[in-house]
Amino acid sequence: MKDLLKVSGLQLGYGRAAVVKGIDLTVPEGSVVCLIGANGAGKTTTMRGLSGLLKTTAGSIHFDGVDITNAPAHRIARLGIRQVPEGRQVFAEMSIEENLRLGGLQAPGPEEFRNRREKVLARFPRLQERLAQQAGLLSGGEQQMLALGRALMGAPQLLLLDEPSMGLAPLFVEEIFRIVTDLKREGVTILLVEQNAQAALEIADYAYVLEGGRITMQGPGAEIAENPQVIAAYLGGH
Ligand code: ATP
Repeated sequence: MKDLLKVSGLQLGYGRAAVVKGIDLTVPEGSVVCLIGANGAGKTTTMRGLSGLLKTTAGSIHFDGVDITNAPAHRIARLGIRQVPEGRQVFAEMSIEENLRLGGLQAPGPEEFRNRREKVLARFPRLQERLAQQAGLLSGGEQQMLALGRALMGAPQLLLLDEPSMGLAPLFVEEIFRIVTDLKREGVTILLVEQNAQAALEIADYAYVLEGGRITMQGPGAEIAENPQVIAAYLGGH
């Protein structure tokens, strides 16, 4: 399987503060790769670097063989990377329909746009029922569905999911992980950041542990889930 995403020596920070201190990671096409780590480890910062929202200070990012290091975010999106940001960040004042339309702006034509919209609404019947409703009035779980739907309107090859289950009721958490599994089955490649390490490691083909901006451990999801240090630090010590 080819490496869809290849990150080498990546460094990121805010002003003079280095946050991500030279990480290497690869995401093979068709796989789910998960990034776990404590609060402040640099997971969100990594995602922002990959989607072009934050400039890198060193290292390189290649997507499908193309060097996208410091490429503008809109170009990265057009190439096929879509991010579902931490905290969802739907456009609260806009309707569900309008949020989805924004996600599909780069669709190559009206027919493709309609196909994508139909697929997204079939996947998320709750959104279908409330198309004209203001996004800010949705529950947290519904907003997460909308954020996912908006990203899927871009028909991404690589989906960057930043804490998709954060703050959600257990039923929605289950639903999110079911959707991620479905997407994987459909061939979408996924990089997943999760606090819910247990559930994430269950579906991950491969996992990286990020600590203080450095990757301290990596391996197949099932192996990482059995590592005693990981169990003690991230899986509640059981
Ligand atoms: P969390 O789960 O809490 O989101 P994380 O692993 O995603 O944790 P980041 O959000 O990447 O961590 O933050 C890493 C470090 O960068 C933290 O020390 C944080 O305070 C700092 N940081 C994050 N965003 C900014 C910002 N906009 N300006 C300055 N420092 C920031």
